[in-house]
Amino acid sequence: MRLILLGSPGAGKGTQAKLISAKFGIPNISTGDILRENIRQGTELGKKVKDCLERGDLVPDDTILEIIDARLKQDDCHKGFILDGFPRTVAQADGLDHLLKRGGIALSAVVALVTDPEALVRRLSSRHTCRNCGADYNAQGAAVPERCTRCGGIVDQRDDDKEETVRYRLEVYQKQTAPLIRFYEETGQLRRVDGMASVETVFQAIVGELA
Ligand code: AMP
Repeated sequence: MRLILLGSPGAGKGTQAKLISAKFGIPNISTGDILRENIRQGTELGKKVKDCLERGDLVPDDTILEIIDARLKQDDCHKGFILDGFPRTVAQADGLDHLLKRGGIALSAVVALVTDPEALVRRLSSRHTCRNCGADYNAQGAAVPERCTRCGGIVDQRDDDKEETVRYRLEVYQKQTAPLIRFYEETGQLRRVDGMASVETVFQAIVGELA
């Protein structure tokens, strides 16, 4: 299974990618997680992309394609993979196409999570995330723990989940990433799923589309 999860920031791609990864036993490749880990570790790549992430801008396509090229060559990708947060531009989708053709492999499906932008602003600007394992906690209604209930890591708000940056990230998505819906519609690989339903309902709908 080789899957792309498309959807705007806060659409629930990360949550669904983890569930799909567990169900099908394939790695979840999140370019956002890879970049944040590099920033946390202070690598050269991390230093290069830090400002981009803080502003909510996209990291240059060639940098992202290098990351993906290296990651897809790792052994755990032989059985398949889920791409979460990649591709994000038509140039990245073209680059991925080239990498897949070179490896003699094809995508199984592209699942787009369909969402309502205003609800996403509320969802994202109240999201808190474990700095250690990436688990999400939502501050709408329920209190957010200071420590992750799964791993004990510190739970706080991602810098780019502040409301102003969230609105900017949604604009970036509309301009640069939304055109990919059309791109994959034209290749016949696109499947649409309602991303505003509950986590379990969205997950079952995705599994249904992949069956
Ligand atoms: P995410 O965790 O997917 O919301 O990504 C967080 C941030 O990482 C984005 O706002 C971008 O700055 C950067 N990023 C992640 N994936 C990509 C990508 N495929 N292309 C460019 N920038 C990316």
